[in-house]
Amino acid sequence: MKVTQAELIISAVDPRQYPEDALPEIALAGRSNVGKSSLINRMIHRKNLARTSSKPGKTQTINFYRINGVLTFADMPGYGFAKVSKAVRAAWGRMSEQYLTQRHNLAGILQVIDLRHPPTKDDIAMYEWLKHLGIPVIVAATKADKITRGQWPKHKKQVKEGLQMEPKDPLILFSSQTGQGKEELWSEIGRLISD
Ligand code: GDP
Repeated sequence: MKVTQAELIISAVDPRQYPEDALPEIALAGRSNVGKSSLINRMIHRKNLARTSSKPGKTQTINFYRINGVLTFADMPGYGFAKVSKAVRAAWGRMSEQYLTQRHNLAGILQVIDLRHPPTKDDIAMYEWLKHLGIPVIVAATKADKITRGQWPKHKKQVKEGLQMEPKDPLILFSSQTGQGKEELWSEIGRLISD
């Protein structure tokens, strides 16, 4: 998809603030610091619309970006950071559960993970949760530029096996640095929102 327009609609702290236009929505989930904001910026050709390196533990919001007036990205708060209080974790759980179970225009989730390492406990728990809820998932394994091409198949296998991915779920190698995987990711997103 050629992105000609992308804008932040709202950083929502409460479901009452979620956009009501009912455009198909793709939510992005990933461990804090995995590279989720960088992926969004690369997908929409913006250097800094989705802010990078946000501090863990700050107010948790779901950020809604409208793209070309035809779909919305919902950027969920990062999960799995080690040093936050129980209260912050509980708030993350409440917000995410409410969003994932009640958002009627949700077309699917883009789960962002780090290609370099085996999926973390939190990555695995998130994937299992999404499967349990019956939500379609695309996995984007980012930071592909940080390992050599020859190692990609091995790391891809590590992700698939670590998450116990269903064979029908797409796994896309991505790099926000080089743009690797961008077209493939847009085409999978296109498939989800037209289903
Ligand atoms: P977020 O917390 O998941 O939104 O992560 P960010 O997008 O802020 O990225 C965290 C760090 O990883 C930043 O220093 C980014 O520059 C870096 N980063 C993110 N994606 C990539 C990538 O594809 N390749 C490389 N080399 N670095 C990346």
